[in-house]
Amino acid sequence: MSKPHSTVEISIVIPLYNESGNIARLAEEIVKALPPKEVDYELLLVDDGSVDDTWSVIEEACNSTPHIQGIRLSRNFGHQNALLAGLSKARGKAVISMDGDMQHPPSYLPELIELWRQGNKVVSTKRTRTEHLGKFKTKTSEWFYKVFSWLSGVQIEEGSSDFRLIDRQVLTELLRFNDVNPFLRGAVKWLGFDKHTACLEYQVGQRHEGESSYNLKRMLNFANSAIVSFSTKPLLLGIWLGLATSAIAFTELIYIIVLWSLGETVPGWASTVGIIALLFGVLFILLGVIGLYLSRIHTALQQRPKFVIGNITEAIEPVEGSKTKQPEELTS
Ligand code: UDP
Ligand code: MG
Repeated sequence: MSKPHSTVEISIVIPLYNESGNIARLAEEIVKALPPKEVDYELLLVDDGSVDDTWSVIEEACNSTPHIQGIRLSRNFGHQNALLAGLSKARGKAVISMDGDMQHPPSYLPELIELWRQGNKVVSTKRTRTEHLGKFKTKTSEWFYKVFSWLSGVQIEEGSSDFRLIDRQVLTELLRFNDVNPFLRGAVKWLGFDKHTACLEYQVGQRHEGESSYNLKRMLNFANSAIVSFSTKPLLLGIWLGLATSAIAFTELIYIIVLWSLGETVPGWASTVGIIALLFGVLFILLGVIGLYLSRIHTALQQRPKFVIGNITEAIEPVEGSKTKQPEELTS
């Protein structure tokens, strides 16, 4: 029987794609870190359309352990969407997301929860030692966060991942996002709550079994969707390119005209090249202007909240005898 919303304190959401060899170990380590008799939590295992027997292992785990719940997606929707599916079903007052391959070690869970109990609404993590990650992954991830932060204005630290805890208030806001390609790291950062954010440093673990599903193609797709979701700067590139081209072409044309008035000519096709370059510049600017409008449409379609309320003080009691008038009283 599932408990009603408020009675589960913590939800742990884990997306799984072909992780049948890791689930038993993962569940065991989580129980070791968080004994169910001491901490009130549910474990949501999301099977993201695995092609191995991940689902039957999840079902087994659910039958033997009451605090585990399985969610099976109808096909592979990708890490971020699988995570979102689990988050949408979570009932806890705080929700933890982590990977299912032991790279996010369950031994850090008590610390994450403690930082939340101290009043933090977001507890993010930062990996310190990366020897289990490989040089290529560490470097590309470093570059990605730099480019992403510059293009989007949303500062994400290197070493970030989807190993984090968020309070229900943050989750409620996060679920209002309507991005075509969710990028949860960016979305949580975008929501703010910086004054109520703690960061826990951890040592990334070694993948227990199987191999990473993020090959180069998937990594590029991931980076591409994250940037497109959070930045409209590339759409405006045309304006800057156009302004630069036009300025150079214009200067060149002035130079030719001045020389011509002095009775000299620049050899070659100087005036033709100048005019073509100027026209190209104008074309780029117009493309950029189209991008400007397109960026508005893109942002509007995402329907993100226009603001997010962090705290609100107690309502001020009306002074005796000075009851605030209701709109209908004002009009009558
Ligand atoms: N994952 C998923 N759907 C996918 C790919 C990955 O749910 O399409 C899960 C995977 O099972 C793991 C987490 O997302 O729990 C991170 O994936 P992985 O370990 O392959 O990525 P890496 O750690 O190499 O970035
Ligand atoms: Mg991994």
